[in-house]
Amino acid sequence: MHILIADAFDAKLPERLKPFGEVSSDLATLSQATALLVRSKTKVDADLLAKAPNLKLVIRGGVGMDNVDKKLCADKGIKAVNTPRASSVAVAEMAMAFMVAIPARLIEAHMSMKEGKFLKSELKRTELFKKTLGLIGAGNIATEVAKRAQAFGMEVIAYDPYLKEHPVAKLVGLDELAAKADVISMHLPLTDETRDMVNAAFLAKAKDGLILVNTGRGKCIVDADVAAALASGKLRAYGTDVWVSDPPPADCPLLTAPNVFMAPHLGASSKENLGRIGDEVILILQDFKA
Ligand code: NAD
Repeated sequence: MHILIADAFDAKLPERLKPFGEVSSDLATLSQATALLVRSKTKVDADLLAKAPNLKLVIRGGVGMDNVDKKLCADKGIKAVNTPRASSVAVAEMAMAFMVAIPARLIEAHMSMKEGKFLKSELKRTELFKKTLGLIGAGNIATEVAKRAQAFGMEVIAYDPYLKEHPVAKLVGLDELAAKADVISMHLPLTDETRDMVNAAFLAKAKDGLILVNTGRGKCIVDADVAAALASGKLRAYGTDVWVSDPPPADCPLLTAPNVFMAPHLGASSKENLGRIGDEVILILQDFKA
C-alpha cells in the first residue's frame, strides 16, 4: 500500500504507518497512492481524484467531511471515512476558551496591558454562572461543551432536530433557544440545511447582548449579518475558529467588525488530538487490510 499524507498530522504518524507500506508526504506521489490522508486543507474533489487512479481509501483526520466529495468517492469505489470522536475534547476546549475569555474581557485586558494601559475600571466583566448556554447542534463536541458549561453553573439548552434526547442539555426549538440563550455555541456540520443558519432573521430573535461562539463551520453563519449585529450592539461578541474559507478573504466583514475574537481554525489541532487521530487512522488501516 502507498499511503500519502497530504495534510498536517502528528509528526510521529509516518513512522507509525510504515508497517502498512510505503509512506510519503510528497503530493507528487498522488498517482501511486492507495490511501490518502487529509485534514481540512486538501480538497478531495473531481480534480484530485482524476490524478489518483490507484486510490482505494480516503481518511479525513477529523470530523466534518465537507472537503471530501463522498459521492464521487463512492462512485469510484473509494472508501471515504473520518475519525469522528477523536477531536471532541480538543474542539470543546476551544469553544470553552472563547466562552470564558470573552465575558472575562481577557483578550482586551491582555492587549491593553501590552499597550501600556491599565483599564481596571473600564473593562466591565460578566460571568457565565447562572447564564443560559444554547447549543446549536448537540453531537459529540457539543456534549463535551455541555458538561464543561454545567461545571461553570450554566443552564444548558440545545437545538438538534435529529436527537430525541440528550444526556446533558434540555432539547428545545430554535426560536426558544434564540429567546433564552445568553451565550450560543455552534457545533453544526455544513449541510444544505445548516448553511447560513445564523442570519439576520435568527439574530433578530436572539437576546440583546448575545455572545455567539462558532467552532463548527464558518459557512453556517452569514458573515455580513453577524458583522451588522456586532456593529449595532445586538451581538455583544462573536468568537470564531471557523471561516468561510481557510484563510478568510481579505474583504471578510468579520475581520474588521467590532468585538470579533478570532482563531485560525485551531480547534482540532491540539497535540493530544493529533495523537488520537493517528490512533484512529491506524485502526482504520488495520480494518482496511483485513
Ligand atoms: P456530530 O456529528 O457528533 O454532531 C453534529 C450534530 O449536529 C448532530 O447531532 C446532528 O444531528 C446535528 N445537526 C445536523 N444538522 C442539524 C441542523 N440542521 N440543526 C441542528 N443540528 C443539526 O459532530 P461533532 O463531532 O460534534 O462535530 C460537529 C462539527 O464541528 C463538525 O461537523 C465540524 O463541522 C465541526 N468541527 C470543527 C473543528 C474545528 O477545528 N473547529 C474540528 C472538528 C469538527
